[in-house]
Amino acid sequence: MGYPKCMRTDYHMHTPLCGHAIGAPRDYILAAQKQGLAEIGFSDHNPMPTQFDDWRMAPEELPQYIEMIHAAQREFPDYPVRLGLECDFIPSFEGHIHHLAAQAEWDYLIGSVHYITPDWDVDNPKHLKRWTEQPVEEIWQKYFDAYTLMAESCLFDFLAHPDLVKKFGHRPEGDLSRFYKGTLDAVAEAGVVLEINTAGLRKDVHEIYPSRDFLVAAHIRNIPIVINSDAHSPKEVAADFDAAYMLARDVGYTEVMTFKGRKAMPVAIS
Ligand code: ZN
Ligand code: FE
Ligand code: FE
Ligand code: ZN
Repeated sequence: MGYPKCMRTDYHMHTPLCGHAIGAPRDYILAAQKQGLAEIGFSDHNPMPTQFDDWRMAPEELPQYIEMIHAAQREFPDYPVRLGLECDFIPSFEGHIHHLAAQAEWDYLIGSVHYITPDWDVDNPKHLKRWTEQPVEEIWQKYFDAYTLMAESCLFDFLAHPDLVKKFGHRPEGDLSRFYKGTLDAVAEAGVVLEINTAGLRKDVHEIYPSRDFLVAAHIRNIPIVINSDAHSPKEVAADFDAAYMLARDVGYTEVMTFKGRKAMPVAIS
């Protein structure tokens, strides 16, 4: 049996509940249909057990999030709308992820490293000054150490924006594969899917996450991929997908993964 069809999906979309995204789910769905996507999924930032920072839903808002996506599914019965969650991987909160996993019939859980220390979300512009206070090498190492632990945790269906640490354009000297080879070995070993995320094109670095050489190293290890926009507004749905699909194809990928009920299924790349 061959693949069902060539289709494009976007599983990384946010909602206003996180406080830094705009547009109701239906506006994202209408945008996705206009872009010709075959299915989409929402994945807002997960709540933490207590008020933790200012860019995620409050702990008591999780039921509201789930109901909001269920309502969107009811409004568009003929269009697949998946229910996901973008979860921060923070060492010592693994039990919380297990707790979240039991709160709904998720189609997928995304793992993300934003926090490289308990008080530093590395993609947050409010901490930009810290980049001048310690070597870039050290910051990158902390990020990829955390990403490796996330892969080894086996808590997630796919792992987001693999080299997010480059967001503001800070990069160590030389061949960067020394930072992510170990991480990619852990990702391959865990059998988890990696995300190509076009949001980097909209940030200071102006580059897809991950870089091309990172993706080449992932492909060599047969690590499956999913291509997402990380939309925080309806106009960002499927943003720069032609560039992302071209990159994936160019590197040698022939399929991307789709998600339903926490099971990954390949479809041919389009
Ligand atoms: Zn966000
Ligand atoms: Fe993220
Ligand atoms: Fe996101
Ligand atoms: Zn994200």
